[in-house]
Amino acid sequence: MDQHWSALLEFDQKHVWHPYAKLPNPVQAIGVKKTQGSIITLADDRELVDGMSSWWAAMHGYNHPKIQQAMHEQIDTMPHIMFGGFTHEPAIELAKRLVKLTPAGLEKVFFVDSGSVAMEVAIKMAMQYWISLNRPAKNRLLTVKNGYHGDTFATMAVCDPVNGMHSLFANQLTNHFFAPAPQMGFDIESDNQDIEALKTILLEHQANIAAITLEPIVQGAGGMRFYRPDYLKQVRDLCDECDVLLIVDEIATGFGRTGKLFACEWAEISPDIMALGKTLTGGHITLAATLTTKKISSTISHGQPGILAHGPTFMANPLACRAAIANIDVLLASPWQENITRIEDHFQQTLLPLKSLSGVADARVLGAIGVVELERDDLGPAIQAAAVENGIWLRPFGKLVYTMPAYNIPQHQLVALTTGLIIAIKNSLKP
Ligand SMILES: *Cc1c(COP(=O)(O)O)cnc(C)c1O
Repeated sequence: MDQHWSALLEFDQKHVWHPYAKLPNPVQAIGVKKTQGSIITLADDRELVDGMSSWWAAMHGYNHPKIQQAMHEQIDTMPHIMFGGFTHEPAIELAKRLVKLTPAGLEKVFFVDSGSVAMEVAIKMAMQYWISLNRPAKNRLLTVKNGYHGDTFATMAVCDPVNGMHSLFANQLTNHFFAPAPQMGFDIESDNQDIEALKTILLEHQANIAAITLEPIVQGAGGMRFYRPDYLKQVRDLCDECDVLLIVDEIATGFGRTGKLFACEWAEISPDIMALGKTLTGGHITLAATLTTKKISSTISHGQPGILAHGPTFMANPLACRAAIANIDVLLASPWQENITRIEDHFQQTLLPLKSLSGVADARVLGAIGVVELERDDLGPAIQAAAVENGIWLRPFGKLVYTMPAYNIPQHQLVALTTGLIIAIKNSLKP
């Protein structure tokens, strides 16, 4: 490490806050110099194969030439303009694509800067919908345990009550209704006890419930759990029967990760409100969106005060919208389904056998997502260090070692990724 970098890292460790970290940071963050495709180059010139896609974001790998080209063009013409009173081609063209690609009925697009805020807006839309219909008592949410929807106050209140930060902020968070998490397993035959439990809460409290909110098929940061499409289908039906809206958080699952363009497609449902984020720009710049139906937008617009009460400063940032347009066009022009199947097959062959290791509680795969759940929850830092030693980048949390690489990761890098992951796990499990 040269002196320049040593000085930078020293300052970082003392002054710069990292996600879910303390200061000064006892674990020095690793300096990164550049990225290309699925390779991350560190300050000391070591190269890592990326297993995280920067938290689900870089679905085509880093520095995609078409996305970069679009961003270069946009930055030279108009990096930003306020969206109040103005509109522009990047926002309109992106909205066109989102309306076309997302499940039927989602026709109205609200752009925001991050996933958490997309969920805030989703929740606000649901609340305002019922206020507009003169039913303000419908102001609470029903969700399932093991969910994750973001770190802002409204979203924290629907995150898993145990994994989330509920105990810390108990007095500041709204009390919502929590049903048991859907039974784990994508292709299981279920006795539907999970849906019955949700239904019981819904029937008892529907007069106070604005919406059910959940992540479709894959529960991400709240446990990396996969569940059956039939559950989601039944949730949709229950919402219709009980006059409750359905908010679906596709921030992690959207744009192909599970093998369908949107995870809702597994259950052939359309939600009333959908949140998108993470890989919307292919990981190049932050952008998120909340989509809803004509019915909800017009109800809000006909109610009091006749507007949706939200409007971020950087709403529909043109640079981010141009990146998203290029990103979606690259996705649709690519053989993404074949890539997801290729990664899924490889994960099934390499990761599922880890189930038989002592110390491993479970291994599961869906689409381009591989998860190894350990019995202990304190091995993450050791596994991460061992992964870096083995030339790969992982960011385990708690008991979960998981990977969701770029769809176009070259096969030899995919092999390096699983090989490194397996060595890191095996070494850390040694007595
Ligand atoms: C990451 C994530 C969010 C929050 O998005 P941010 O951009 O980090 O605010 C919300 N919901 C799900 C399902 C996510 O995976």
